[in-house]
Amino acid sequence: MADFMKVAKAKIDASASNLNALSQEIWSHPELNFNEHHAHEVLTDFLEKEGFNVERHFVLETAFRATFGSDNAGPNICVICEYDALPDIGHACGHNLIAECGVAAGLGIKAALEASGNKYGKVTVLGTPAEEGGGGKRLLIKANAFTGIAVAMMAHPYRYNVPRPIALSMTTVIIKFQGKASHASAAPWDGNNALDAAVMCYQAISNMRQQIKPTCRVHGIFTNGGAAPNIIPEEAELTYYLRAIDEGELSVLKRKVRACAEGAAKAAECQVEIRSPVSFANVITNTVLVVIYEKYARDLGFQWDEDPGMSAGSTDFGNASYVVPGIHPMFSITDTANNHMRAFTATAGSPEAQGPTLIQAKALAMTAIELMQPSGQDTLKKIQKEFKDTVSKLQMPE
Ligand SMILES: [Zn+2]
Ligand SMILES: [Zn+2]
Repeated sequence: MADFMKVAKAKIDASASNLNALSQEIWSHPELNFNEHHAHEVLTDFLEKEGFNVERHFVLETAFRATFGSDNAGPNICVICEYDALPDIGHACGHNLIAECGVAAGLGIKAALEASGNKYGKVTVLGTPAEEGGGGKRLLIKANAFTGIAVAMMAHPYRYNVPRPIALSMTTVIIKFQGKASHASAAPWDGNNALDAAVMCYQAISNMRQQIKPTCRVHGIFTNGGAAPNIIPEEAELTYYLRAIDEGELSVLKRKVRACAEGAAKAAECQVEIRSPVSFANVITNTVLVVIYEKYARDLGFQWDEDPGMSAGSTDFGNASYVVPGIHPMFSITDTANNHMRAFTATAGSPEAQGPTLIQAKALAMTAIELMQPSGQDTLKKIQKEFKDTVSKLQMPE
């Protein structure tokens, strides 16, 4: 087994400069939710050149699936790539490195499979668009993209090294107020001011924060504040993300926010419509799987940081973790910047991010190889049992 591990690590090391170039290509062309056309092209070209069977535009325009190995030989292990950026601030979540890490792990696993004479299973590199609010993985799950996959793994750059991060349940909430337009000077009394309703709603939610659990997060922006100062705003809109430790706490938070919106609508004599188009589940880390990953990451010199407490976001990998056993470790590329800061964008494109990214790729590849060997069968059964005992009882959000 040790030899296959060596083969995987050697392949990743030998590909380091190509992988860095791939990452740079994505980093220097930041693309938003579902519009990651350039990233899709460079990633699929790269994987095809490396001998993967590549399905471009898999289910979604900018998703892909690249596979190598045989369905009947052993487990199908999935490594996930993300590659979308953020508005204005580019690759401030470092998804270029997630893509690089997923591809690198895929190369390592493929090299080990080849060295074994293709006896041991199959690797799937899955390209999942629109993590930043769009939820590409939700749509891939609906299209059964995870069917037949034994485990799914990815690694995300961060400020800290955390193998079992908290990722909160999250839902987007769009609150749209409908009022009545009128001349703001000549006949303001004939109007119903939708912006007033939105402002009262925003303030009511801000006041409500005292009554929520410390693990909840509520953050929003105005996405429509009226058309012109001389028109009483006919429409106004707020977009919020609500987050909580699990689906149960999230439903409490949703109820409170709904009450704020309905109260504000009543006060301004407006109508309100509330929609939740995208929801991310909390991440369920499979503990049997993560222990194997932790062992290899430690062997590669990785050290875990102290628990960063409630420094937590959300991810559509949470939804994936409800349908397949998985892990979503987070690894440090800087100790001075948080995700979604401009300084994080700079680090994600810098040479110092390369070392940690390839260590993660090696740890994921070695975890996969351990599961693919005949001795991994028992471990896979334990992973499945834990998954069945915990996650399958839970209801995934829509
Ligand atoms: Zn992000
Ligand atoms: Zn991210």
